[in-house]
Amino acid sequence: MLILWFGITFCCAATNGKVPEVSIDTSRFVDVEEIAKKVNASFHWFPVQKIFYIASPKDTAKFAIGMDYVWLSKNEAGVGGTEALNLAPTLQGDKICISKKDAALFQKWLPQPPPQPSQPVPVAKPKNETAGTREVKTIVIDPGHGGKDSGALGKKSQEKDIVLAVAKLLKKELEKEDFKVKLTRDKDVFIELGERANLANQWDGDLFLSLHCNAIDGAENQKRIKGYHFYVLRAPESEEDKAIARRENKVAALYGEKNAKEELSPIEWFKLEARLEKYKQNSYMLTENLLKSFDGGKIKKLSTGVGGAGFMVLVGAMMPAVLVELGYITHPEDEDYMITTKGQEDLAKRVAKAVEAYKEGVKAYRETLGR
Ligand SMILES: [Zn+2]
Repeated sequence: MLILWFGITFCCAATNGKVPEVSIDTSRFVDVEEIAKKVNASFHWFPVQKIFYIASPKDTAKFAIGMDYVWLSKNEAGVGGTEALNLAPTLQGDKICISKKDAALFQKWLPQPPPQPSQPVPVAKPKNETAGTREVKTIVIDPGHGGKDSGALGKKSQEKDIVLAVAKLLKKELEKEDFKVKLTRDKDVFIELGERANLANQWDGDLFLSLHCNAIDGAENQKRIKGYHFYVLRAPESEEDKAIARRENKVAALYGEKNAKEELSPIEWFKLEARLEKYKQNSYMLTENLLKSFDGGKIKKLSTGVGGAGFMVLVGAMMPAVLVELGYITHPEDEDYMITTKGQEDLAKRVAKAVEAYKEGVKAYRETLGR
């Protein structure tokens, strides 16, 4: 109110009197009246004292020509008082000017925009999409067994050697397709079952493939039973599947792995359920792709080709996971094929083809989500 009164009483234009032929040095100065207008403040000039005020309902700034400081009224936070200016205000022509740098102090005077009502913000892509819905880039290949654990034995070979050879060839095939490929082992070493899934999680894999060769006891069975079979982690539905899981899990108990067991208890299945649900669709999608790419190969399908059981190696993987039994090491024909380079190359190519198809499947799914 006091300011307003002064304004009415004493204020008069700076244009009174002679108008010198000087224009504003616009590189450094601005017309203070323009600034006042911009921030919706009133401007008051006192020619005798050569002082001027800029006043808004909340703030007042008081300047003097030739004095390089400003007096500011206290704001809501109680901050005010005298502040140094970059340059002293000057008269230039018919204008009262302050430096451009000092004009910045009026930025704060601008009415602040009211907080925006929450508007639908375009949904940013989640930074860490879960494996299964994100783009398929990293494939973790787990050649089963290794080192002191030979896996199943054939007449001429050991499971650990066949799966390592196929895994290395598969890595090459997948790298040709620009996948990032990680092997849980690339030599003849022993790795605990739990550690294999841990590695896959550490590498942030998109797919976990555990490679194995199947086996069966008894001379009669060994002549008869052959073929490939793919497994996802799920409660077993047949005694055969249960037996295969027990055999693949046995190593853990055999070599003193912590918490090792051959079968999962009902409580453990229950605990796993939610996580399995998350990756189930994708794991099955891969088995479908595997069935297609293995069709027509030298090794034939065993029964339906797909089963589920409690494979310990798959339990910890936080990603779609499939255990591949390439063929029966205990069957002479399957073994003969799996130990040749030609056979191993063919198997690696078939698995790679399935992974490619799986990647395309996930891509198509992502497109339906608009990603
Ligand atoms: Zn195995």
